[in-house]
Amino acid sequence: MRDAFGREINYLRVSVTERCNLNCVYCGKEECAKRDSELTPGQIEKIVRAAAACGVTKVRLTGGEPLVRDDICEIARRIRGIPGIKTLSLTTNGVYLQKYAAALKAAGLDSVNVSLDSADGSTYRHLTGADVLHKVLDGIDAARAAGLSPIKLNAVLMKGVNDDGAGALIDLARTTPLDVRFIELMPFSDPGEDARLRVTGDALLRQFPFLTPTGQTEGTAVYYTAPGFSGRVGLISPVSKKFCAACNRIRLLSNGKIKPCIGYDTAYDVMPYLDNGERLAEAIAAIILKKPAGHDFEHTGPAHGLNKTGG
Ligand code: SAM
Repeated sequence: MRDAFGREINYLRVSVTERCNLNCVYCGKEECAKRDSELTPGQIEKIVRAAAACGVTKVRLTGGEPLVRDDICEIARRIRGIPGIKTLSLTTNGVYLQKYAAALKAAGLDSVNVSLDSADGSTYRHLTGADVLHKVLDGIDAARAAGLSPIKLNAVLMKGVNDDGAGALIDLARTTPLDVRFIELMPFSDPGEDARLRVTGDALLRQFPFLTPTGQTEGTAVYYTAPGFSGRVGLISPVSKKFCAACNRIRLLSNGKIKPCIGYDTAYDVMPYLDNGERLAEAIAAIILKKPAGHDFEHTGPAHGLNKTGG
């Protein structure tokens, strides 16, 4: 369905947990919810079914870290069985991907985004608090072997922290048929400090002038390539080039609330309608109509970190 600003809302991001096995420096540091407050696979299925009745065709599982849930394959299988859901994807830090890739593919998962902020082991450990880069790389290999496609690697660069590794990440797109995407740091902790740390898409294009536009814009990413590259480089610029006018998404939080915009804390509880599919769909439609025109990161100050919102 269309929202109040005429945008077709067809994409639901489902945060299945706030829990995470990593502790990334720029992600939320708030107290995480306990496991027993998370939605069950059956509850998630009901909400996604109602969202599909409102026109949602695309679902992404995220978190927290979705692969800390040992029922993640059941969640995927239930969502994939809902009429109208055409694509199911996952955003993960990749640490447990080797364990789950084949089973998730069998459960109906189509594609995967893996967060990889550095290809250097010690920088990765500094950023995430864990010495597990090798596991992430094995997970990416397992995803390719399982036939998950496309596979996209997402990196958040920060000045003086990991921006010196941008070239090595871009090199992965040269040697491997993967998309490597750079997401601008969004202000979820300290807006002033985040602005100082942020590496914009334009700054990367100045630093790597061999990147040329492919003319492809997919979702939030604008793609670039270079001679001899097997994959592409994507730039996602939610701060320097706001794409709210084309936003097509809403977010289900792991506590059963739906958040219409990433930039605000506002979220609406749909749990009271869970046992009535029609009322649930009406509630979701009403939330879609409340979706604001755009985020206002620069003025509203920090919303919840992405561990709560579902990145
Ligand atoms: N645990 C999963 C993962 O690591 O992909 C899913 C959740 S994580 C919050 C999703 C994405 O949000 C990651 O790619 C992470 O880099 C990104 N993210 C977290 N905080 C961010 C911020 N302040 N600005 C931009 N991206 C952020």
